[in-house]
Formats: sequence, C-alpha cells, structure tokens
Amino acid sequence: MSPATPLPPIVQVATVYAVALGSNRRGRHGSPECEIAAALEALGDIIARSPTIASVPLGPSNRRYANAVALIETAEDPATLLVRLKRIERAFGRRPGRRWGSRVIDLDIVLWSGGAWFSPGLIVPHAAFRTRGFVLGPLAGLVPKWRDPLTGRTIRQLAQSVDRKRPRD
Ligand code: AMP
Repeated sequence: MSPATPLPPIVQVATVYAVALGSNRRGRHGSPECEIAAALEALGDIIARSPTIASVPLGPSNRRYANAVALIETAEDPATLLVRLKRIERAFGRRPGRRWGSRVIDLDIVLWSGGAWFSPGLIVPHAAFRTRGFVLGPLAGLVPKWRDPLTGRTIRQLAQSVDRKRPRD
C-alpha cells in the first residue's frame, strides 16, 4: 500500500445479544408487565422476544417478578451496550445498589453472538444465567440451539437441567 492510500473505514459489524428483562415494582409505565413492554420499546433493535412470564422472587424480596428475554441486533460492544442498559434502568427509576430490593426494571446481558467477554464490572455470558429458570425458559423458546461458549451446552440442555432440579410439589 502506498503511503497516500487512504485507510478503509472501520466497519462495525452488527452482533446479536440476548438481554434478560425483569421487573417487580410498578413504575410510571404501570405494572411490571407494562414496565417490561416499555423497556423493550426503549431498547429497540429487537429481532425477537419471548412472552412475559411471572416468576417467584429470588432472595428476600417477596414481590413477584415479570420476566422476559429479547434478542437485539446492534454493532455496540458489550461494554457499550451495558452503559446503555444502565441508562435505561436509571430513566425507569431504578435505584442502584439494592441487590434484592424491588426494582422497576433490571436489564442483563445474557449472551452475545461474539462469544465471551470479560471486562471490569461485566461478564458475558451472565455469570448466573445457567441456574435461572426464569431466564433459561424464555431463552429456550427463542434460541434452543445457541451454545453457551463457556460450557458448550445448548440453551435447551441448560433449561432442561434447571427444570430437573426444580422441586416438585
Ligand atoms: P444487577 O443487580 O443485575 O443490576 O447487576 C449489577 C451489576 O452487575 C451491574 O452494574 C454490572 O456492572 C454487573 N454485571 C456483570 N455482568 C453483567 C451482565 N452480563 N449483564 C448486566 N450486568 C452485569
């Protein structure tokens, strides 16, 4: 290449993310289900979404959760997408620092088509998703054959093993 040849523009390739949404508190959009619907609008770039399900609370909070999973397509890298998710959470009235408290909206990056990502404050795939039926169930309805890059197991397999561990009544 001669020194005068201009460099090609940097091409940002769109990738796909699975984003988990959860809400257990009414906000300005209404019920937790309405908060999930509004957060999906705010996210944009949605390729597919699961139905919104009701799930029992995790941790000491006794409020029921509404949960859903969406697939979004974007050229953002995971760290940039997390900044956007945190901005949406703040705009919805989420107060940071309350791990198990009531939350108008919680947005997590579950999977990325680019594979694994580790940076300060961000781990993809999400560190806890392999044991969370309320994420794996909706996710298995969307991408049953997607493989977890760290364990090599498909989403369907992970969802089935969580189902088997669930106590029967
Ligand atoms: P949360 O309780 O879900 O709001 O998560 C609290 C923190 O977890 C966030 O502020 C992130 O810094 C961190 N975190 C680590 N990995 C992830 C991920 N895959 N998706 C979302 N948050 C993450």
